[in-house]
Amino acid sequence: MTPRPNFLMTMTVLLILSGCAAEVTRTQPMVAVVPHDADPLGETEWGIIDPQPQLSAAEPLKKDSNQPALAVSLQKDAEAIDVKRKVIYSGSRSVKKVALTFDDGPDKVYTQKILDILQENKVKATFFVLGAHAEKYPEMVKRMAKEGHVVGNHSWDHANLTKLSGDELIDEVERADRTIEKLTGSYPALFRAPYGEVSKELFDVVEKTPNRSVIGWSVDTRDWEKVSADKILATVKKETKPGAILLEHCAGGKGGDLSNTIQALPKIIAYLKSEGYSFVTVPELLNPT
Ligand SMILES: [Zn+2]
Repeated sequence: MTPRPNFLMTMTVLLILSGCAAEVTRTQPMVAVVPHDADPLGETEWGIIDPQPQLSAAEPLKKDSNQPALAVSLQKDAEAIDVKRKVIYSGSRSVKKVALTFDDGPDKVYTQKILDILQENKVKATFFVLGAHAEKYPEMVKRMAKEGHVVGNHSWDHANLTKLSGDELIDEVERADRTIEKLTGSYPALFRAPYGEVSKELFDVVEKTPNRSVIGWSVDTRDWEKVSADKILATVKKETKPGAILLEHCAGGKGGDLSNTIQALPKIIAYLKSEGYSFVTVPELLNPT
């Protein structure tokens, strides 16, 4: 049976893309973890889904074109990969600059400690905050902005936005936008999707704001998983390259504990400085002056 033309086209796209996915697979094992807590606003952990395309060269493509749903399914996969390619995962690899990012805050414990460490080390970072947490701890968001950090939108309450549509999806993005703008005086130009999960519909909503960038990450410290501070540092040492965007958290975490992040952060800063890296915010990383 002759495969349909759109099936062939999709196969070609997938095979081309599989090269870069294989690169990713070597350094970042695919992990799909769902949120562990039904209470999205609790001081609890968030799951992370690897933001990169979920395909690798080792993953054989099914060739049974007798399945009518297969071509449609592959077409959807191709669209999903296309959308993920619009996410920015790092800056220029030619300059030794990195951006520290902290998600899911603010909270009343760890955000403050992280801000203190950043202040002591004269490092500017980027915080992707939840609108609901920003509303709960407004002083923390004001402090971020006042101390020169960039505040981006991480949705209202960490819903998986690929499962939402219409007004629900718009509300998740724009309600957080409005809260952040009220607290910082600036409409957030950066957006990071919960779990790194994006869709075409999400981009349609996010891109209603001109010049908005959707930001992923290139180094996942997995700090929310309660790995040790030494393991976090080892991941940073192994995976950080010029232009890296490092993912850490300033709220949530397993059992609400991010003491590993607090212990690791000064060591991360000291190590990367000793390696000749400078720390910039995500906008500075992407638009060097
Ligand atoms: Zn998050």
